[in-house]
Amino acid sequence: MKIIADYHTHTIYSNGKNGKRKHAIGTIEENVQEAIKKGLKTIGISDHSYRHLLYGLNRDSIFEMREEIDRLNEKYKEIEILLGIECNILDNKGTIDMDDKIREQLDYVLAGYHFASEPTSLRCLLNHGDNFLLKTKRSTRYNTDAIVNAMKNNDIFMITHPGDKGDVYIEEIAEEAKKRNIILEINSSHAHLNAEQLKQIAKYENRLMIGSDAHKPFMVGNFSLGLETVKNSGIDIKRVENIME
Ligand SMILES: [Zn+2]
Ligand SMILES: [Zn+2]
Repeated sequence: MKIIADYHTHTIYSNGKNGKRKHAIGTIEENVQEAIKKGLKTIGISDHSYRHLLYGLNRDSIFEMREEIDRLNEKYKEIEILLGIECNILDNKGTIDMDDKIREQLDYVLAGYHFASEPTSLRCLLNHGDNFLLKTKRSTRYNTDAIVNAMKNNDIFMITHPGDKGDVYIEEIAEEAKKRNIILEINSSHAHLNAEQLKQIAKYENRLMIGSDAHKPFMVGNFSLGLETVKNSGIDIKRVENIME
């Protein structure tokens, strides 16, 4: 088994507006060097976007990240380095923290739900609380609408860890993702999609990828949990697009 690409890795650019949070360690170049060491053909840098209360990009950093990645692509010819982002799915309308100026700099967009993303309304704030404490059906509805509408309203390459930190009706998400050719992630750090979800959505034949969600360079290309999930789900490993048998 060979890993071809890891599109979900974080760097120090995820460490908040002033860079002082300790959310991730490692520079872009350190992630790239680790990816080369592990024989990957493509590495994607996908730091958290900017509307999160605790961590994420300083919005203007995206321009210097683009320059750095262009420079590193010249330096390391043996690998393709892409600039992505992991947007926060902010509310049930499917709003994500993205704008045209940022989009122009990027090669692709990931989006997922995260606790403590900036609330866009009181209802949205209450939903964070609901996901954190009560885990009601009402929050499952809200979370599902959020992800489905994010796919309808934005140009998204892959939905990260669907169902993590807030339950979802995974079949509705699978149906919409299938319609729009959007990939669903088997996240190797957060255990979603999990084997049970993969069984539930098998009939939709979604596009699937494993993402390391590395927050430290040595975790780049670490697909252990993702591979185990695939094995436990019984789905054909060949369906995972970013590995080769
Ligand atoms: Zn995430
Ligand atoms: Zn992530």
